[in-house]
Parts: sequence; structure tokens; C-alpha cells
Amino acid sequence: MNPIIYVVATPIGNLKDITFRAIDTLLSVDLVVCEDTRVTKRLLQEYEIDKPTISYHLHSKLSKIDEIIAVLKEGKSIALVSDAGTPCISDPGSFLINKAREEIGEELKIIPIPGPSAITTALSATGFTDSSFLFLGFLPHKKGRETLFNEIAITERTVVFYESPHRFMKALESLQKVLQPKRKIGVARELTKMFEEIKIGTVSEIIDYYNQNKDKVRGEFVIMVAPMS
Ligand code: SAM
Repeated sequence: MNPIIYVVATPIGNLKDITFRAIDTLLSVDLVVCEDTRVTKRLLQEYEIDKPTISYHLHSKLSKIDEIIAVLKEGKSIALVSDAGTPCISDPGSFLINKAREEIGEELKIIPIPGPSAITTALSATGFTDSSFLFLGFLPHKKGRETLFNEIAITERTVVFYESPHRFMKALESLQKVLQPKRKIGVARELTKMFEEIKIGTVSEIIDYYNQNKDKVRGEFVIMVAPMS
């Protein structure tokens, strides 16, 4: 049997957002490789999937990665999942995939099982793009951050990035400094969850809103900048 890594997209909040194929795949594999086992076990329990899990993150010891690759070398299949959404999009999956490909070579099959991602979910509700957009992942915390905001300001296309609640207001303030005042932005917070919120407006309007609703500066955020009109 050829070793297989199934790269399985999982929900970004609402546990019902999972495909039949993702469930079938999770039921079929020998091992589920995840970020936080507690998060993945909640999903597996919801669908009564009883599979061994092993956690994997960027700072995992090489021995752990070796353990996962050893399972593949036995001709077994694994599912790679992340805490939320599509693996390898702003999370550590790519390192594992590249290492496994390097060590196992052509024999290794990599099969994507598509599903939700915060990027597409957020964009789908804004009408900010019908074709291209630029996705920047998480912006750097310090070095290069301001330069990137200047680049966003002159980019004509829709720009999308992820931001943590701690840096959310700072990101809006940086956008306010560089964007043309009328350019719209979108904020998608807690998508598919109980407190889901999608706001669209100029940066000043959005800053005013969150200054008046400080309790809402929490959870998970996607920030989008509308294309230049
Ligand atoms: N792989 C994931 C994907 O496909 O979207 C992204 C993983 S990244 C480590 C996590 C970031 O994605 C969060 O900090 C947030 O910016 C965004 N995100 C994930 N789930 C979200 C949600 N339910 N609502 C809004 N943003 C979310």
C-alpha cells in the first residue's frame, strides 16, 4: 500500500461545516495528525470517530515528525488536520508535508479533501471580489509591518489578512493612517459561531464601532480591504 497523507479541511467554528468526504476520510485513516488534540477530539467525538491522534506544531521535536513519517513508511494513511479550516493556510502543516515528501518521495500520495477556510468564508460575504485578491496571512508583528501597510494602501486589488484580537485595533489604526479615507474595509469576526459578525465600512466607521463596542474586540478576525474603486 502506498503511504497517503489526506489533507482534510475541518470546520472553522460550526461543527456542522464538514463534508461527507472529510468524515469518510477521518473514519478510514490509521492516524489523525492535528494541532491541539483537545480541539480535534471534540470534532471526532461529534461524529463518533474513534481514531488515534498525535499533535503536531511548528515547534514539535523532530522525533515527533519522525514518528509520523515512520507511520507513513509502513504504508499507512494519515489525515492532517488543523484546529480550524484548511491545513497549511497560515498553520504549520506545510513543514510536515514537505518533510514527508522529501523522505518518502514519489511513493507518497497527498490527497486534499477540500472544505472551509476563513479566507473564502469571509470574502464570500463582502462582495469585495469577483476574481482576484491578495492574501497576506498573519502580518509580521514588528519588522516589515508598517511597510506592508503602505503596500496594502497602494494595492488596487482586494487584500485579506488574519489578525489576532490583541493586534486588531492597532491594525485598524495602521490602516487608517495609509488608506484613502473613502476606501472600504470589511471585518469578519467569529465566522460560523454564535457571535458571528461581519462589518463593512470605512476604517473610521469601523474604528468608531469597535471603540463603542469594546467587548467585541475578541475572538477570531479576518480583515479585508476592498479594491480601489
Ligand atoms: N487554516 C485556517 C483557515 O483555513 O482559515 C486558518 C488558520 S490560522 C492559524 C487562524 C486564523 O484564521 C485566526 O487567527 C483568524 O484570523 C482566522 N480564523 C479562523 N477561524 C475563524 C473564524 N471562525 N472567524 C474569523 N476568523 C477566523
